[in-house]
Amino acid sequence: MRMILLGPPGVGKGTQAVTLAQAEQAAHISTGDILRAHVAQGTPLGKAAKEYMDKGLLVPDDVIMGLVKDRLQQPDAQNGYIFDGFPRTAAQAVALGQLLNEEELPLEAVVSLEASDELVVERISGRRTCRECKEVYHVKFSPPKVTGVCDKCGGELYQRDDDIETVVRKRLTEYHTKTAPLIEYYRAEGLLKTVDGTQSVQAVSQAIRKAIG
Ligand code: AMP
Repeated sequence: MRMILLGPPGVGKGTQAVTLAQAEQAAHISTGDILRAHVAQGTPLGKAAKEYMDKGLLVPDDVIMGLVKDRLQQPDAQNGYIFDGFPRTAAQAVALGQLLNEEELPLEAVVSLEASDELVVERISGRRTCRECKEVYHVKFSPPKVTGVCDKCGGELYQRDDDIETVVRKRLTEYHTKTAPLIEYYRAEGLLKTVDGTQSVQAVSQAIRKAIG
């Protein structure tokens, strides 16, 4: 499987990408996760990226393309990939097209998960993430058994700095102005499928499978 999951922050791309990638033995490539790993390690790239991330702004395209190129060349990606949170700008989409040509790993589908801004804000502001295994919870919709502790690995749950409401609203503006135009871009390429992202995790998962055949 070689695909892109498009959609606003908090629509559930990450959750779906993890399940699909496991089932298909494909690489789950989340540029947000890669950036957060750099931030956690305190690399120069991470320090520079955090300035943008904390403001809800997109990290510059050249930085992102460097990360994606490295990741795509790793062995697991040869078996398939699911991009989550990438591409986010027209420039990234064009650069990705060239990269996939060079690597001979052509895209098979782009799935756009859809949800309203209000739903997304509610989902994200209650989101808690495990520091260790990155499992995602929601204080209201999918709480852990013990508050603040990951069910899977016992790791500490935290709220991402960019998950506070003011930053989420800025991320949504970035999404609508810079990323949403990619929906038409991929529709024109005949690759686009749309899925209602407001359903349960399982229903969305089934709908994605149905959409991509
Ligand atoms: P995410 O976890 O995908 O919502 O990403 C969190 C933050 O990382 C975003 O708000 C951006 O600041 C940055 N980021 C992640 N992926 C990209 C990308 N493809 N292009 C630019 N910035 C990105």
